[in-house]
Amino acid sequence: MAEPEAAPSGPRPIVPYLKIPADGSPHLEGQKCRHCGAIFLGERTTCSSCGTSDGFDAIRLADRGELYVYSIVHRSFPGIEVPYVSAIVDLEGGGTVKGNLIGIEPDPDAIRMGMPVDVVYEIAPRKDAEGNEYLTYYFKPRA
Ligand SMILES: [Zn+2]
Repeated sequence: MAEPEAAPSGPRPIVPYLKIPADGSPHLEGQKCRHCGAIFLGERTTCSSCGTSDGFDAIRLADRGELYVYSIVHRSFPGIEVPYVSAIVDLEGGGTVKGNLIGIEPDPDAIRMGMPVDVVYEIAPRKDAEGNEYLTYYFKPRA
């Protein structure tokens, strides 16, 4: 009989496509279409780019990319500090990811479309009701 897997210790990923390998650094994972190579986040059965169902391979996404578009958020859920910058980033090598842009003034004069950013991983500011910590990711302007 197989040994039961040890309960995971440490933070949990805040989204399923954030992977925390036991013996490596955290990273985002995409699903690459076997037919056309389009990359998506999350599981799917059919490629929305080429329409085939040849299947997908999981690939590690790059930790760097370019700011595609952003929005400065002034109103959010109670308890969420505003303003913050919600961004969509095109990652190097493929994959388009939404997340918050940190380390920059939430000011249109400071933010440039196409600016290079890095993906950084940090413990989320809030725990869940059971006290579990979560690892989340942000985008940061590249130094
Ligand atoms: Zn495809």
